[in-house]
Amino acid sequence: MTIREVQDEILRLKKEKNVCILAHSYQTHDILEIADFTGDSYLLSKKAAEVEAQEVLMCGVRFMAETVKLLSPDKRVILSSPEAGCPMAEQMDREMIECVKEKYPDYTVVAYINTTAELKTVCDVCVTSSSAVKICSQIENDHILFIPDCNLGQFVASQLPDKEFKLLQGGCPIHAAVRPEEALQAKKLHPNALLLVHPECVPGVSALADYVGSTSGIMDHVRDSNADEFIIGTENSIAQHLQFAYPDKKFYLLSKGLLCQNMKATTLIDVLHCLQGSAGEEIELPAETIRQARRCIEKMIELGG
Ligand code: SF4
Repeated sequence: MTIREVQDEILRLKKEKNVCILAHSYQTHDILEIADFTGDSYLLSKKAAEVEAQEVLMCGVRFMAETVKLLSPDKRVILSSPEAGCPMAEQMDREMIECVKEKYPDYTVVAYINTTAELKTVCDVCVTSSSAVKICSQIENDHILFIPDCNLGQFVASQLPDKEFKLLQGGCPIHAAVRPEEALQAKKLHPNALLLVHPECVPGVSALADYVGSTSGIMDHVRDSNADEFIIGTENSIAQHLQFAYPDKKFYLLSKGLLCQNMKATTLIDVLHCLQGSAGEEIELPAETIRQARRCIEKMIELGG
């Protein structure tokens, strides 16, 4: 089958079975094209809760499918590729954070949404990379324990100097692997390009950027900018998506290493097989985990709007 034929069959089955397909922005372009919604994990889980379809197929990684389940506990949520995990989300577990909380009982525990549902049960509030600064600024407590991404945590802390942040040594191995030397080299190679980076990068890279923000923030920044050239400092699929959206502008990769194999675990054929019922994994969470973890997400909605 050609890509077009596979896509057509997916669209036919999706309609016939009334399945809502969600695709995170780091998925490949052929998958984005057949999705009902594309974007970051929080936006996708909100959209899934709004649609009338009772079955949702999440093309992304496990914590994203879990977040969809937290907001739509009565829906059937399928993760497109069972082996697609997020190394950052798995770096810290519930027992570890319970121990840290005993050491810092006066701190509000802020969890990046890139955490397991199980870990969210012992945290106070979730944030996304786009809402982290706003939500942390609205927390009444000036003492914040930010997990698991120390680079995002450090970026948020730099924006809120009146608050005291405790950070743990976690983070995205893909973004954190980019070195400041690569950023300097990319700027030297493309002197007219703006450098846009994700706050999961190390502070030395963020310090060299013209803009630091979430994936959707980076895409919005390109849309609103008059510049013609950009160095993209987040997962490399974003440079490709932007190139499709703005064919007259030029997009360069900050690093060839910015490639998340977990996000690329799902292929277009996997999506087809999920709809045919021969692939994917249904996400099931204990009712008590849903109740406790959901508290964290509801607090995020309350503080972040
Ligand atoms: S890019 Fe990083 S944070 Fe995102 S899924 Fe991959 S490992 Fe996890």
